[in-house]
Amino acid sequence: MRLQFKTDKRVPNPILIESGALERVGEVCLSLGISEEALIVSDPTVIKVTEDKLYESLQESKIKYSTKLIQKATKMAVEQVKEEIRKLKNKVILGVGGGGVIDVSKLSASQENIPFISIPTAASHDGIASPRAKINNLAPFSIEASSPAAIIADINVVSKAPYRLTASGCGDLISKLTSIKDWELAHLRTNEKFDEEAANLSRESGQSLIENAKLVKKRIKEGYQIVVEALIKSGISMTLAGSSRPSSGAEHMFSHKLDQIAPNSAYHGEQCGIGTIIMMFLHGGDWKKIVDTLKIVGAPTTAKEIHVDNEVIVKAICEAKEIRNDRYTILDEIKIVRKLAEEIATITGII
Ligand SMILES: [Zn+2]
Repeated sequence: MRLQFKTDKRVPNPILIESGALERVGEVCLSLGISEEALIVSDPTVIKVTEDKLYESLQESKIKYSTKLIQKATKMAVEQVKEEIRKLKNKVILGVGGGGVIDVSKLSASQENIPFISIPTAASHDGIASPRAKINNLAPFSIEASSPAAIIADINVVSKAPYRLTASGCGDLISKLTSIKDWELAHLRTNEKFDEEAANLSRESGQSLIENAKLVKKRIKEGYQIVVEALIKSGISMTLAGSSRPSSGAEHMFSHKLDQIAPNSAYHGEQCGIGTIIMMFLHGGDWKKIVDTLKIVGAPTTAKEIHVDNEVIVKAICEAKEIRNDRYTILDEIKIVRKLAEEIATITGII
């Protein structure tokens, strides 16, 4: 299927979410007026399962290509990809992989001023469509980059990725329900600009997970399609708003804090899911629904499941606000002392 939005130049176009989409990479490049050399950025595992269809499609469209494999989303990987673009005079980056590959491709393309096509191979977070990139050792939260020129999500490929990645994507999706609450609160208290269209898009993406959790759990193509589509909508909400605001509130600050206190314990979306339980509790919303939904899709809801000590959770709740002071959230309304943090984590069953 093709997702379509109002004619907004900042929004990726086309957005293909279908089985076999990988076979259409060459066709999409040509539709964007790209017929010269492409740089494929991927990782050693992903390239093995995608290269046949990908290369064939590019060859059919007579587009030359070279491939750069990276290991992690680091500053060094961004520099290496940029170096490659300058050396080979590539005209487009095809980012084929999970979150790290997509982020490195997006930022490198943005800094070298060439288009980037997002080709996600897992439904693990909303960076597949957003104009933001999270690079380790660059900033504790995502930084600005350009939106992808197009998105090609092959459901055959996404459905073969380890299911834990999809469950993590579900955690990132459900977090939209508290990010929107934080944005509404900021608008009310500080008169921060609020974009209704962006907010609706992000809210819808969180809501669609609540409504379709049982389908997602079945691990069938229809479920993957729903998760990918919702993640893309969430990413686009950031493009429309011109910031990560619609899709990132205090629950993301909690996740970024965990990255600092206990790096590499869990995936971004898994941490955000737990952060959503906490922030929904503070907002006085239906946090039990968040827990239930995460449990249905098999995403973690406890400290144990993300392999951190109870103390780490308490500390991250207490210090989440430090991540960014410029963003008004529920953490500006309620003073978090240690005792309260312990109580929240205990009542919600996280510790
Ligand atoms: Zn996120």
